Amino acid sequence: MMTESEVLDLLQKVGAFSTGHFVLTSGRHADSYLNKDALYPYTHDTSHLCKAMAERFADKDIDVVVGPAIGAAIISQWVAYHLTDMRGEEVYGAYADKDGQGGFILRRGYDQIVKGKRILIVEDLTTTGGSIKKVVETARGAGGNVVGAIVIVNRGGVTKAQVGSPKEFQSLVNLHLESWEESECELCKKGIPVNIDIGHGRDFMARNKA
Ligand SMILES: [Zn+2]
Repeated sequence: MMTESEVLDLLQKVGAFSTGHFVLTSGRHADSYLNKDALYPYTHDTSHLCKAMAERFADKDIDVVVGPAIGAAIISQWVAYHLTDMRGEEVYGAYADKDGQGGFILRRGYDQIVKGKRILIVEDLTTTGGSIKKVVETARGAGGNVVGAIVIVNRGGVTKAQVGSPKEFQSLVNLHLESWEESECELCKKGIPVNIDIGHGRDFMARNKA
């Protein structure tokens, strides 16, 4: 089992998690920054995290792992790979495509793979639970029995109900991201410099100089 701090260390090492003083896309200032896409080029680290996810559901007789494209399609592959090793029988990896209307759809014959099976939904990061909930509902709509859902990082205190109430909802890390409106930022008040390499700090600095 990986501990929360081991997971955060790994995410920090690959540049997917940083602490400091950042400007977010929304314009809010924050004390930490997540860039989940920085993880995927590191295949061994991705595999390592996915193995930790698989371990949490190793005894749940999962048949199919499903994630929302694009990032979680990679996670789905690795989690299914490790569950296959743990179970000694084939666990399938599949993914849901964006349907172009804000939802998800099982295409490519994956709806048939999900039908009547025990499903684990996976995702890299959740802030509101919205995407996971849609994939949970999509899998149920295809006749799947959603046994659980798991994310690498839950940064919004997202609850089981918010992801559509699968039997179990887990995360490798629960992260509380502290953020403020620009005018209220505690880090600005303390005179801590904004990070200009990650997020929107560079634009913020340029605007403040002008
Ligand atoms: Zn600030």
